[in-house]
Amino acid sequence: MSVQYKLRAEPMRPLIAGNWKMHGLIAQLAEIKSIAAAVVAGNPPADILICPPATLIVRAAELAGHRIAIGGQDCHPETAGAFTGDLSAEMLKDAGASAVILGHSERRQGHGETDAMVAAKANAARRTGLLSIICIGETQSQRAAGRTLQVCRDQIAGSLPIGMTPAELVIAHEPLWAIGSGHMPTAAEIADVHGHIRMTLVTRFGSEGRAIRILYGGSVTATNALRVLALPDVDGALIGGASLKAIDFDAIIRTVAASAPGWDQPADRAEPPVEVHDLDSSKRK
Ligand code: PEP
Repeated sequence: MSVQYKLRAEPMRPLIAGNWKMHGLIAQLAEIKSIAAAVVAGNPPADILICPPATLIVRAAELAGHRIAIGGQDCHPETAGAFTGDLSAEMLKDAGASAVILGHSERRQGHGETDAMVAAKANAARRTGLLSIICIGETQSQRAAGRTLQVCRDQIAGSLPIGMTPAELVIAHEPLWAIGSGHMPTAAEIADVHGHIRMTLVTRFGSEGRAIRILYGGSVTATNALRVLALPDVDGALIGGASLKAIDFDAIIRTVAASAPGWDQPADRAEPPVEVHDLDSSKRK
């Protein structure tokens, strides 16, 4: 039987989430085993989540044990029914998931998912007790037109169902042009957008909106993770490519841990301090 790790919203701990997308056969479960072992050994002050393909959730949850959580990448709004190829939130939960990524841009763009559909799916996640990681983010052209903040506000307004509580929710801000591209907004841009997302959440939820984790996603690697995570209102990261290999994902997790004050860091894991500066891709290799 799998043991589900409870993802905590409070007190605010960074959430480091891996999105495996449509990658991973049974052989890749060894990566989850390695990540789980590294997390148990290092005990970083962060919640760790891996969202593998649905075919691996049961086995991944068994391997993940108490210290890392397993999640789905999508769910259907209904509990069960004639929906060939779909999975319900109940099925994800039954398989060992504690969370579900909803409204990823690859689903919004590739499967025509609207904000209303994302909200219906988030309702299903609530019904089942899964944490919803709701993805929002602007395209390159929306960004160029100066519409980033409005797009994020509108997506939050449309994708969160009525009645959703802060404890049930994580927001992942993923600029579409940054996903898998090796490009990123500048540090100032990330901080600006996340600050506006925070204010949007506070407007909706009152002071409880301050406890909702806002993840940044888009080309996060071990090299830039600390600089991103040091920014205000960045409470973790949603990571695609760099989550597929334990060695890369663990390096990000260790970098996060190195930034946390008071963490009892094993000596051989000490990382040199990294100065916070712009993440302008033009300045990176
Ligand atoms: C993602 O798919 O959510 C993502 C952020 O991908 P990557 O880290 O590869 O840019």
